[in-house]
Amino acid sequence: MSRLLAPTLREDPGEAEVPSHRLMLRAGMIRKLAAGVYSFLPLGLRVIHKVSNIIREEMDRSGAQEVFLPTLLPAELWQETGRWNIYGKELFRIKDRHERDFCLGPTHEEIITDLVRNNLRSYKQLPLNLYQIQTKFRDEVRPRFGLMRGREFMMKDSYSFHDSEASLDKEYKNMFDTYCRIFDRIGLQYKVVEADSGAIGGGFSQEFMVLADTGEEEIFYCESCGYAASRESAGVGKYKVTGQGVSRTEHKMQETLTPDKKTIDEVSGFLKISPEQMIKTLIYETEKGPVAALVRGDHDLNEAKLKKLLGVEEVRLADEKVIEKVTKSPVGFAGPVGLKNIRIIADTAVALIPDGVTGANKKDHHLIHVVIERDYKPELTADIRLAISQDLCPKCEGGHMNVTRGIEVGHIFKLGTKYSAKMKANYLDENNTEKPYIMGCYGIGVGRTAAAAIEQCNDKDGIIWPAAIAPFVIDIIPANTEEKEQMELAEKIYSELTKLTPDIILDDRPERIGVKLKDADLIGFPVKVIIGKALKDGKIEIKLRKTGETKLTPVGNAIEELAGYVR
Ligand code: ATP
Ligand code: MG
Repeated sequence: MSRLLAPTLREDPGEAEVPSHRLMLRAGMIRKLAAGVYSFLPLGLRVIHKVSNIIREEMDRSGAQEVFLPTLLPAELWQETGRWNIYGKELFRIKDRHERDFCLGPTHEEIITDLVRNNLRSYKQLPLNLYQIQTKFRDEVRPRFGLMRGREFMMKDSYSFHDSEASLDKEYKNMFDTYCRIFDRIGLQYKVVEADSGAIGGGFSQEFMVLADTGEEEIFYCESCGYAASRESAGVGKYKVTGQGVSRTEHKMQETLTPDKKTIDEVSGFLKISPEQMIKTLIYETEKGPVAALVRGDHDLNEAKLKKLLGVEEVRLADEKVIEKVTKSPVGFAGPVGLKNIRIIADTAVALIPDGVTGANKKDHHLIHVVIERDYKPELTADIRLAISQDLCPKCEGGHMNVTRGIEVGHIFKLGTKYSAKMKANYLDENNTEKPYIMGCYGIGVGRTAAAAIEQCNDKDGIIWPAAIAPFVIDIIPANTEEKEQMELAEKIYSELTKLTPDIILDDRPERIGVKLKDADLIGFPVKVIIGKALKDGKIEIKLRKTGETKLTPVGNAIEELAGYVR
């Protein structure tokens, strides 16, 4: 350790909001170069290598083959699938000296599909799964939390190619099991949830979430049947709204004055009604034209669900101009009654409102006693809202949904032919017919996984690494380096154990024992061997970071006992 670059910090760095970020900085593992861009120091890099090695071993065991694709990617491939435009600002775009467009790879579906279409023709060569461990670039809106959400970060990504859905299903299951083995070996507690496919797209996908209070994601799970989903994709069971069973109002729909009252709170407060009675009308623009989406006043729309339902690539809230054009009134008074030339989609909860209130498409006016089908007819009624705690489970429809927090460390997708069809990436089947590959893709954030391990296991003194990814497993600490006897024994144990594993470190710094112990706990070495006072009685002290358990061991047994920890 006297030669190791591990600049530990006594004070908490101000910019760090979560334990993993704070502790990796304090333990001298990483340093920030720019927002979301980090340098790895020796200890940090060792952790990254441990995580990558576990991933590599398990991917190899699964039958996947390692490749290494470029990071500097020509725009043409991205234009073939249309993602050059769709990816938006998250894509780091650059031009070469000839003014040709390139980007720094945020993910590699196009690149791998191109490689495979140029080099594999026959169904006999399928299935195939290729993976790489590589730096990715994404210009995130909010890079934060250190390695959790970087703009430059390391990812294991893999892509599989098939000639049938059944073959894809089999490999997807193989990857699911492989991911479980990876996260089990690392020693993480996680939940697998159904997820939205986001910008990568395609069909079914699942996320591996490490459970942690500091996680950015909300996980919805049913306490009775075990269904679990991300916030974006959590379905909603057919639940009862207040008043269901109460028959629809007999009153005629009526216009009422609501001067300057626009928001749900303002209107419901002014009219002295519950937000559950309000029909919130959101005007969205899509590449297939505008849409009016209706959700109950106390609910929020789920854009991912709306997108999927409409089969569009993009939905965005309409601006003032479009709203005024569609509703022929200022913003704040939109409602479904009398709306023309626009598709109207209602959430299932809206359909159950017995006596609704909504905008009148007229300045300073709302409508009361509004009833679906009688006063307005949506084209479709479907689940388009965000789930909330205590919703009925969409799967068993008996249990209720709970919410917990997690960190997405891995994501597996069934892509189908989304990329291969657009890129004319075909193979020849038994009858010599060209068919697009059926694909899957599978990602793990390497740095994020390391950070998640810290979020899950730390205390006031520092990191508590799971042994599988600790930078060193055993820290040998002579209490006083000036004492010849202590140093000699320390060096002897060090050289014996390093025959078994490189994961041993010797703290030969001429520091006080207190400083060395503090650093050891901060960095989070799983086992400390303290060679100090007890040596007079022929003993050394072995202390475990996780439990704090300490025991004195006779010098004669030390190597054998520590070899046990190594194993
Ligand atoms: P998020 O929703 O957190 O932005 P994502 O859905 O965009 O993640 P994928 O495209 O599925 O992520 O990428 C695969 C994996 O890469 C993720 O599961 C995550 O572990 C990791 N990852 C994604 N973005 C980042 C980032 N900005 N920094 C670090 N790791 C990341
Ligand atoms: Mg993302």
